[in-house]
Amino acid sequence: MQKTIALVAHDHKKPDLIKWALEHKSELSKHKLVATGTTGGLLMKALALDIHRYKSGPLGGDQQIGALIAENKLDCLIFFWDPLNPAPHDPDVKALLRLCSVWNVPVACNMSTADMVITSPLFFDGSYQRQLPDL
Ligand code: PGA
Repeated sequence: MQKTIALVAHDHKKPDLIKWALEHKSELSKHKLVATGTTGGLLMKALALDIHRYKSGPLGGDQQIGALIAENKLDCLIFFWDPLNPAPHDPDVKALLRLCSVWNVPVACNMSTADMVITSPLFFDGSYQRQLPDL
């Protein structure tokens, strides 16, 4: 079952996300991948996979991914945000994480959670029905 997965990492976390994505390349390659601008560029180079790139996070990319969530077009967010450094677009980061909660979108903010999400049969075999908010 093909899913749409968004991949985002703050600057200090980009090496971790690239390492993680390389480890899970065969699973990721089965899905539609989207990313914020810089993260997407680095991942495309490292993985040699097609990734739809939105704007860079600080320039609105996080909000573009948030819009996907609000349109119920995103199945999973892998978001390695940086808890140790301030981000100029912190309100956008919070808004993105907030929308994941509103729309009950699986979101992994660190490598161990991402490992569990990407290997979960619940997520990928089509048997799990994600509950959506009452509209
Ligand atoms: P970037 O954006 O991939 O363009 O660096 C990520 C972010 O800071 O949200």
